Amino acid sequence: MAQLDSRIPPGPLADKWRTHKANIRLVNPANKRKYEVIVVGAGLAGSSAAATLAELGYKVKCFVYHDSPRRAHSIAAQGGINAAKNYQNDGDSVYRLFYDTIKGGDYRAREANVHRLAEVSVNIIDQCVAQGVPFAREYGGLLANRSFGGAQVSRTFYARGQTGQQLLLGAYSALMRMVGNGGVQLFPNSEMLDLVIVDGQAKGIVVRNLITGEISRHAADAVILATGGYGNVFNLSTYARQSNATAIWRAYKRGACFANPCYTQIHPTCIPVTGDYQSKLTLMSESLRNDGRIWVPKKAEDRLKDPNTIPESDRDYYLERIYPSFGNLAPRDIASRAAKRVCDEGRGVGESGLGVYLDFSDAIKRLGEAGVAERYGNLFDIYHEITNENAYKVPMRIYPAVHYTMGGLWVDYNLMSNIPGLFVLGEANFSDHGANRLGASALMQGLADGYFVIPYTIGDYLATQKPGSRPSADAAEFKAAEQNVVGMTTRLLGINGKEPVSYFHKRLGKIMWEGCGMARTEASLKKALQEIPKLREEFWANVRVPGSEKTLNQSLEQAGRVADFLELGELMCLDALTREESCGGHFREEHQYPDGECKRDDEKFGHVAAWEFQGEGKAPLRNVEPLNYEFVKMSVRNYK
Ligand SMILES: Cc1cc2nc3c(=O)[nH]c(=O)nc-3n(C[C@H](O)[C@H](O)[C@H](O)COP(=O)(O)OP(=O)(O)OC[C@H]3O[C@@H](n4cnc5c(N)ncnc54)[C@H](O)[C@@H]3O)c2cc1C
Repeated sequence: MAQLDSRIPPGPLADKWRTHKANIRLVNPANKRKYEVIVVGAGLAGSSAAATLAELGYKVKCFVYHDSPRRAHSIAAQGGINAAKNYQNDGDSVYRLFYDTIKGGDYRAREANVHRLAEVSVNIIDQCVAQGVPFAREYGGLLANRSFGGAQVSRTFYARGQTGQQLLLGAYSALMRMVGNGGVQLFPNSEMLDLVIVDGQAKGIVVRNLITGEISRHAADAVILATGGYGNVFNLSTYARQSNATAIWRAYKRGACFANPCYTQIHPTCIPVTGDYQSKLTLMSESLRNDGRIWVPKKAEDRLKDPNTIPESDRDYYLERIYPSFGNLAPRDIASRAAKRVCDEGRGVGESGLGVYLDFSDAIKRLGEAGVAERYGNLFDIYHEITNENAYKVPMRIYPAVHYTMGGLWVDYNLMSNIPGLFVLGEANFSDHGANRLGASALMQGLADGYFVIPYTIGDYLATQKPGSRPSADAAEFKAAEQNVVGMTTRLLGINGKEPVSYFHKRLGKIMWEGCGMARTEASLKKALQEIPKLREEFWANVRVPGSEKTLNQSLEQAGRVADFLELGELMCLDALTREESCGGHFREEHQYPDGECKRDDEKFGHVAAWEFQGEGKAPLRNVEPLNYEFVKMSVRNYK
């Protein structure tokens, strides 16, 4: 059974991080260059970590499957990044950001981690401004803010609808500076396919070069995974098509606990699914809810009418009606379920009936078309390119879609997994968002982890490792891990079945969406748990992976990733079935209040569930880390 020691520092909440930093072990500057650290991933979390660790003097090797770190999924982030700067003088504070995040996560995150996140949020903005990130500014030159869901203050910093891109360019510049001066060795087109454990500690990885097919072994004193989220288990999602779970899944199979895998975020404002041929879904940023109003017709018979002909009196602005204090800025899980409910009532718009309107006509009256375009122009362009509709003239049609995974590898306060020496950052870990992430908080967390947490906490581990003691990549453990990778590749290429990888991915996605999607029931989860193993068996008997392992082979890449999704999907359903309550994005229909809100069971489930692999074909073990709320009272979330 895994030892889950969260290592939360003692003392008052606001002092924990400061005290911890003052007490953790240090590595002296001369010794830092004797340690090698592997960073897998160069999205916001990985780039910021690799750059900062190299600045400190560690030798860093950074691996990404992309041809450039600039292609990481982080580049897609649109709306903004939160920080408790209180530039608007509207009552914000570190405590408020902490409190909103805890409440937003439906009381399923660790207080200490979330408070630290709120504390360092202010440093992130300073760091990024110093790098030259072009945040939007007010007339007088101060940084501008807008509002995101689950908050009653404006604390979201943004660069039009391209915040992720601009932040990533900042982190990338910092990373490339260190590549340029030799502090970081960058390995693009390199996919980590296994984690190497030596004497119970993470000491390296096995990697496949995606262009040449070469498999190589890399040893280090510590390994950091910053490999992003796993929402593509649903096939259709707002994620970059390549995002996958392989790195964290293979680490799970080497002993790292997987925490709360069922916590998935469904984002309320995405362009609706149009057909089976689609390979991805597109987000319309939450920032649009600052000015756009969400509605459906009051009467089902109006749902196919031209929306501009439906009078005000026949429109139901349901979020404003049900949640008057937060209105259209109700948190994502709540707004998504509300959209589902009105569509289930037969009032959904568009041909599929799975859509609601996001309407800018009031904003255009107030700000003019140019004013709206200045704030959201690129989002309106994206919408136009995909739907061929002009959202300045007709309301956007939107529907919830899979967007983010709050679950991930379990980590302690130092962001170290239960495997010593294995650290997990950004969306790949489970740490800060509980059962529902608030908008604009993922960028904050990724950069907090990379710029401000890991540079301190990794030293606490490395100080226990003798400089120069890392094993050789020729050690038996490395050879065995390489054999494991070669074995899986050979097996996939040898099946020679009839169906392409995408056929299985689509089917898995449907099972997951129907069984473990926006609403889950005991019956839907049990059904999915029967279907997934059968699909997995079919995959291993009938998948067709053409080509060779010695060249660029995208079918082979995809096959490995879908093979992992076929296992992870089952764990997600098991986790959702076991968690007999509703919280945040995990909505079990059996557990709801009469008004349809989540009914938590704090007594039985006020904990993190951290699943531990027990071997192929064996049921995983469910470990529990109790969540102790010392500073905030757990209560029923209320946005009314
Ligand atoms: C459309 C969209 C808009 C969003 N907008 C916002 C927003 O406005 N604000 C906000 O806070 N959040 C937003 N998010 C969420 C946010 O973008 C992500 O959660 C965040 O960027 C994840 O960063 P990351 O560094 O953890 O991972 P990623 O950016 O996903 O990076 C993962 C990295 O790991 C590498 N990698 C993965 N697996 C392997 C492997 N096996 N081997 C080698 N390399 C590997 C990849 O190459 C990549 O470099 C949005 C998400 C989407 C989908």
